[in-house]
Amino acid sequence: MESKITTENHMVGLSQEPKEENRNTPFTYGQPEKVNSNSWRFRNSVQLGIFLLTLGIGIQFFIYVLQASSAGAIEVSRPPGVEGFLPIGALLGWKLFLTTGVWDDVHPAAMVILGFAGLISLFLRKSFCGWFCPVGTLSEWLWKLGKKLFRKNYQVPKWLDFPLRSMKYLILGFFIWSILSMGRSAILDFLHSPYYKISDVKMLFFFTRMSTTSAIVLFVLLTSSLMVRNSWCRYLCPYGALMGLFSFISPTRILRNSKTCIQCKSCAEVCPYHLPVNRKEHIRSSECNGCMDCVSVCPVENTLELKTKWFNRQIWSPLKLGMVIVGLFIGLVYAAEITGHWKSSVSEYEFRVRLQDIDSSKYSHPGGRVQTPPRP
Ligand code: SF4
Ligand code: SF4
Repeated sequence: MESKITTENHMVGLSQEPKEENRNTPFTYGQPEKVNSNSWRFRNSVQLGIFLLTLGIGIQFFIYVLQASSAGAIEVSRPPGVEGFLPIGALLGWKLFLTTGVWDDVHPAAMVILGFAGLISLFLRKSFCGWFCPVGTLSEWLWKLGKKLFRKNYQVPKWLDFPLRSMKYLILGFFIWSILSMGRSAILDFLHSPYYKISDVKMLFFFTRMSTTSAIVLFVLLTSSLMVRNSWCRYLCPYGALMGLFSFISPTRILRNSKTCIQCKSCAEVCPYHLPVNRKEHIRSSECNGCMDCVSVCPVENTLELKTKWFNRQIWSPLKLGMVIVGLFIGLVYAAEITGHWKSSVSEYEFRVRLQDIDSSKYSHPGGRVQTPPRP
């Protein structure tokens, strides 16, 4: 169990400079990968668990598609969780639901997962990104690996950082503009199009039948993730940008008690988004992913905490935050499953039939346009 300087000790006579041993507990100063903290380990365990779950879902879906493409029996079920990678369809589904009350039954799990991510980001900062997202986890592992390989992470100069950070909002803005410009019938046409019905397979083919261009793009992204902390999340991810917008109106934020802060700067050094935690009274940035690493690293008790805007009291320890996120996800999936809002209406038979001519023009979407189903 890590020890912190208590507020009492600090008031009794600590100077403004931290003692060397305090600089190095529980994190080695400026070396976030060398931490020894229960909170840190707990977040890592949650991230690892979700990453392995996603990997398992991907493998199960791959086997399902293989078996569905053959003449033999299908021995595994289609994992609905794979729809977590269909955020555009989920956004369209949510627009349809919010404007007409109609729930998309083609890929309903996509809507549940996006709803969960939005909900926790709305109340608990962008914690979907910091605790749950498997792409965010991979991104975090890569920059830590890069730090080991190159002995440092590179920092993009400030003049370039801001325009680059805007890119994810521009990409998100394009998607939101496209979705807002679609009316009810256009959305229904898309959600019931042949393309969308097997868009999960198209997404699988992106990896299993990767084109040279996609491989080059992926290579560049992986390499940049090794060198720059969270480069994908920080600069390009529209999903994270959307969660950032939700978190901007979140009532929770990281608050710093400047009276007890000893200016050791550990919080700022450990922050994956380079936020100036040691200089601000509170962190409101939409970049903050609620990872709580700054809270875990702070050596002075009750100095850095996640609190609500309205009540000046600590509401979440890192442990409690992680447990609520995981608990809420399990609860929402269970509720969606028992109420029939989780599994796709595309039957095994229809899936098999569509797989047979998946390479035909019926399943392409040139310029975002899909073939529409015949109207009744
Ligand atoms: S401010 Fe704290 S909680 Fe937010 S991203 Fe930085 S380290 Fe994580
Ligand atoms: S708030 Fe930041 S700078 Fe202040 S004591 Fe805690 S870790 Fe150090």
